[in-house]
Amino acid sequence: MTTEPGGPFDVMVVGGGMVGSALAYGLAGQGARVALLDEGDFALRAARGNFGLVWTASKGDGMPAYVRLTRESARIWHDFSGEISGHAGRDIGYQQKGGLDFCLAQADFDERAARIARLHNQSGIEAPRMEMIDRAALQALMPQTRLGERVVGALLCHDDGHVNPLYLLRGLHAGLRAAGGAHLPGAPVSAIEPQGHGFIARRADGDVAAEKVVIAAGVASTRLAAMVGIDFPVRPVRGQNIVTERLPQLLPLPASALRQTAEGVVQIGVTYEDGETEPVTTIPALARMAARAVRVLPDLARARMVRAWGALRPMTPDGFPAYAASLRHPGAFACACHSGVTLAAAHVRLLAPAILAGDLTPFAAFDPARFKDVAHVQPAH
Ligand SMILES: Cc1cc2nc3c(=O)[nH]c(=O)nc-3n(C[C@H](O)[C@H](O)[C@H](O)COP(=O)(O)OP(=O)(O)OC[C@H]3O[C@@H](n4cnc5c(N)ncnc54)[C@H](O)[C@@H]3O)c2cc1C
Repeated sequence: MTTEPGGPFDVMVVGGGMVGSALAYGLAGQGARVALLDEGDFALRAARGNFGLVWTASKGDGMPAYVRLTRESARIWHDFSGEISGHAGRDIGYQQKGGLDFCLAQADFDERAARIARLHNQSGIEAPRMEMIDRAALQALMPQTRLGERVVGALLCHDDGHVNPLYLLRGLHAGLRAAGGAHLPGAPVSAIEPQGHGFIARRADGDVAAEKVVIAAGVASTRLAAMVGIDFPVRPVRGQNIVTERLPQLLPLPASALRQTAEGVVQIGVTYEDGETEPVTTIPALARMAARAVRVLPDLARARMVRAWGALRPMTPDGFPAYAASLRHPGAFACACHSGVTLAAAHVRLLAPAILAGDLTPFAAFDPARFKDVAHVQPAH
């Protein structure tokens, strides 16, 4: 199939965020001729507005296949991070020394303990290595850290870590180019049309054609997937973030909604605002997030906030990933999840080869056909 610019392409990926970039890189690594089509700098995207956790704790409560996929991705991340650092031309800041979920009340502690028990009891899976630790054990884990008086303990997950998501994205794009792929940002795809043995993507700066198309356009995926016969319900759930100035080390391990980067900046999150369509911040939410962070780490009270932002997560009706192959138009796929950083390694090494083979059987549990009877829920993370 011929195409402009730089074709011919075996696969075009529509959406150059966290999911699309990982898939495009993974597909190119398998030897496919790949084009990654993305919007411009003002696009609504979570890839540049997320929290950077590579997180397994509490994921998959109610879906064993998601527990397995998340764990597998975390395992792959060790090797994957070196590969992506090589492409990015710098260390992408991946660390996996364990992650925390601070509990500010006994009820929080008990709720997380119950969740761990539920995950361990799901049949046929190896749950992440999680335990509840009390305040004394937490303090022993981080003797230099001044904990707030209300901290009663934490969930500690030994498999968890974090990464700089912007360097991750840079590495995926550089890796795609190094493998001969075309990264084509700058114009949204307005339409996708099945044509002959492939697909045409319509863009203001010229059409692109390929034999296969993968729609990974985050919150815009529903509309685009419908064009290739895939019913793909994804809705936006806004998350807000704060970053502080650089500080001396306060927090040696990343935590849910609180992490200190390698550069010393403390990132404070995060909201789950269902149905919000604008990636903006609101003063009440930022105030609540900052107040909670100070209750965990009182030294943050003196820190200056440098920046805050909002971003839109793509969320499926049950909160678990959705990977679909079109029955009406074979060769078309749609992919979305709300943990694209965590799953980046699995998307590159496991999902991309399945897409290239045209067989999503190993991912059958993630078929969006399951949504027919599902009410909207919020995930634990
Ligand atoms: C506040 C917040 C915190 C988060 N924290 C974490 C975390 O700690 N760990 C984790 O694993 N995940 C986290 N996530 C989730 C993660 O960022 C998302 O799962 C991931 O970004 C989704 O990737 P995506 O490619 O589907 O969507 P996006 O990253 O949003 O990318 C979609 C892309 O599609 C493009 N696009 C849209 N329409 C078109 C079109 N018509 N034509 C061409 N391109 C188009 C957009 O420009 C964009 O580049 C967080 C998200 C948010 C918002």
